[in-house]
Formats: sequence, C-alpha cells, structure tokens
Amino acid sequence: MTDYSTAKKWFKDSDAVIVTAGNGLSQEEGLDILSEEDFDNRYGEIAEKYDVHTIGDALDKKFDSWDEQWQFWSKLINDYSLNYEISPSMKRLKQLLEGKEYFIATSTFAHFFENADFNQNRIFDVFGDWTKIQCSSGINHGQKDDREVVKKYLEGKGEVPKCDVCNSPMELHMPLNAHFFPDTDANTRLRWFLTGNEDKKVTVLELGVDETSPQLLDPMVDLVKQFPSWHYVAADLDEEDLPDDVQKQSLACSSNIHDFLKELVD
Ligand SMILES: [Zn+2]
Repeated sequence: MTDYSTAKKWFKDSDAVIVTAGNGLSQEEGLDILSEEDFDNRYGEIAEKYDVHTIGDALDKKFDSWDEQWQFWSKLINDYSLNYEISPSMKRLKQLLEGKEYFIATSTFAHFFENADFNQNRIFDVFGDWTKIQCSSGINHGQKDDREVVKKYLEGKGEVPKCDVCNSPMELHMPLNAHFFPDTDANTRLRWFLTGNEDKKVTVLELGVDETSPQLLDPMVDLVKQFPSWHYVAADLDEEDLPDDVQKQSLACSSNIHDFLKELVD
C-alpha cells in the first residue's frame, strides 16, 4: 500500500516542483502513438496507402509529397492539439502546482501543457512540439507556429509552408529525422531552474516516463541523489526501478497517472 501521506507532505513542504512527463501522460491526454485502435477509422486513406496503423508509424513514414504529408499532419494536430480538452489529471496537476515554483520537462509533443495554460516559460518540450515547424533543409533556420497552416489545410485551402530563409518546405518540429534542433532557450531555462534550486526543498514528480525518453529518467534521479533536500516521487514506477541509494529520498507509487493524481490531490 503506497503511503501518499509522505508524498503529500513532500509536495506541501516543497519550494519548487520539477515535473517530468512522458508517454503515459500523453496517453492520459488522449494521444497514444503506439495504439492501433481507431487509427484506420480516422486516417483510412493513409493507413491503406502506406500500410501504417499507428500514429507513431505514420509520423515516421515519408509520404509521396509534402502536400500529402501536411494534409495528414494537419488532421493530427487538429485532432489532438487544436481540439484539446484538458483532462481531470491535468486539472489536478495544476492544483498540485498552484502557488509553487515549477518546471515541466516533457517528451510529449502535442502542446498539452501549453494548452492547459501552464507557464510557457516553465516548459521544456524535449522532443519538440508539433504546433511548431522547422526547415527541412537540415540547417537550423528557426521555428515558427504552424497552427494557421493547419487551419488552412482543414478548410481545404492549405499550402505547404516554406522556410523564410531558404524556401525549403517546412516540417514538424520533432525528432523525426537526424536534423532536429531542440529548443535551446527552454533547455537553458531548465538548467538555470535546476541550479537555482540546488539548496531548496525540491520534489521531482515523474509522470509516465518510460524507456522512450530515458533522458527524463536517470539524469533526474541522479540529481536527487546529489541534493539532500530533494525528493523523487514516481507515479507509475515500482520501487525496484529506482536505485538503492535514492530509496530514502524517493517514493515509487506503482500506480497510473490518473489514480496517482487523484490520491495525491483530491
Ligand atoms: Zn531553410
């Protein structure tokens, strides 16, 4: 039986909270990139033509034309980001972080935290954000918002967006190929946040991070080990997933995000 009273106390006493959120959180918000359920119904043409049956496989696929690519991307972004509705778990997370200093490092890329109105300057989208686009030339020519492009496509008036610098087609700002440039400004802000809180009471909250985003797991546990006033609370990990030397500072709740946040906040 997980002892939520300890976790509650740690959160209550914290000066700052660092949230790491992965695949599990994405699923909680309705986006499961590995699921075959419903894909063929929603994106039948693409499923048939390219023999892909999950969003993950479809994102990895190079389509015959940029226009076709953008038609599909627009549907996805519209379904999961433009029509996003905040989940009960996200509401609870907002409650938990209310009045706290926080930073969110996430491998989810569908703009959930921004849409849920968390502080945009306190979010690092480690794997990018598909409401933004980058140049497909392989050179970093900056990023732009793509939500107007998406809306035009949905109206049937879409045009492949082009780079302002070199006129190459623009692609999603995600690590779908070798030339993904992470958001260095957000990464810098996260580093400053970590440094600035070394001596404070900090709780790291893990939500649905799995082997698809290892950079959000071990490095954070290592940080907690370094700083005696830090704690680590994992929603969906088991105790044996965490190293022995961090056990006293950590809680692994072996739950799922939904139940975990309910126990913790309600
Ligand atoms: Zn360019």
